[in-house]
Amino acid sequence: MGVQWLLVCHGLVTLLVVVSFLCGRWPIFDGTFIQRIHIFLTFGAYDYFQRFVNYIFGTKGTNAILSIEYYCCDRPNPILQAIYLAIIGATYYFIVTSSFNYIPGHYIGGIHRYLSVVAVGVGVLLFLLTSFSDPGIVNNENFSRYVSVYPYDNAIYIEKECSTCKFTKPARSKHCSICDRCVARFDHHCGWMNNCIGERNTRYFVAFLIWHFILCVYGAVAIALILAGQLKESQVIYILTEFYGIDNSFGSLAPHVVQWFLGSYNTQILIMVFLAIVSLLLAGFFGYHANLCLTNTTTNETFKWHEYLSWKRKVNEARASAEALKSSLAELSQEKPPQSKWKTFFQRSPLKDTEPVKNNIYDRGYIRNVSEIIFPLSSRQLFKQYKSKSG
Ligand SMILES: [Zn+2]
Ligand SMILES: [Zn+2]
Repeated sequence: MGVQWLLVCHGLVTLLVVVSFLCGRWPIFDGTFIQRIHIFLTFGAYDYFQRFVNYIFGTKGTNAILSIEYYCCDRPNPILQAIYLAIIGATYYFIVTSSFNYIPGHYIGGIHRYLSVVAVGVGVLLFLLTSFSDPGIVNNENFSRYVSVYPYDNAIYIEKECSTCKFTKPARSKHCSICDRCVARFDHHCGWMNNCIGERNTRYFVAFLIWHFILCVYGAVAIALILAGQLKESQVIYILTEFYGIDNSFGSLAPHVVQWFLGSYNTQILIMVFLAIVSLLLAGFFGYHANLCLTNTTTNETFKWHEYLSWKRKVNEARASAEALKSSLAELSQEKPPQSKWKTFFQRSPLKDTEPVKNNIYDRGYIRNVSEIIFPLSSRQLFKQYKSKSG
């Protein structure tokens, strides 16, 4: 099989795996092989592996797997941090070894040899900043400051004590079970960063996402420019049209040019495909978090609102059916003439009036919400305290 067919198969399999993994639970894939691949990737493969180990090594093997799972998924550990560094390091290494000898090229200047180092360096710096910065850990000394920053909305946050930390839990905080600490304005625990994402480091995390998206697009465009330059310098079009007698039109030249690229620059093409896929994933992830920042919500709160609204809906339904039962019993006892069918049809459902709505009291408009991410409220509070002390 030719190299180009291997590359096409590689691309298709990667796409299938990524789509199945990310979108396999969407209703449109119900009952399809994409859903089956999703189940296999997220649950099935691990289940088969556990059964296999149990079959070979017995209970001891299963226990060993469970303790590894506990260490990898339920305790802070640097595994994904090391994987991130390996991915960014290896990708940059392959770009340097495969493409730097074409820089400067026809369409790309020599400055990109240095600019790329700076771009990767900033990416790693943002990674370290997010990983090792304080996400807003709440402790006995500072909990009152965090409590004063956000009011309780009495919907998804009510005043109560953290059963582990034994202090009043500030509104919007959550006790991270992995790190075993309360974190202010908790968003989520990020395995890649081995840190919680909270009030004080959401800014670095969002900057990390957008920067890595730009980095991937920059890498893919730079390689595309290198390849375009090589096409020009090698005079491939001239050779194809003059010596091979191929028609000078896009339709007839394109397959030959693609074949030439796949044959001569397969490493660069593979890196480009990889960067394009990662940039799409990052764009989706950044879009999701940008929307959360603009509306002053957190990932944790998205789940909390979902739970709260569905609980409220159930309570309302139960209340409405109890009231309907009560009124029909009253009607029976009073023996009133039955209501007209048409009147009943056009009557507003009592549930419509009591449909629970999300009332996010922390949403103060796009500009103030974004400024809260960049300059957290607890830092402002600290700054005020410091100023009043020194003044
Ligand atoms: Zn706690
Ligand atoms: Zn955590």
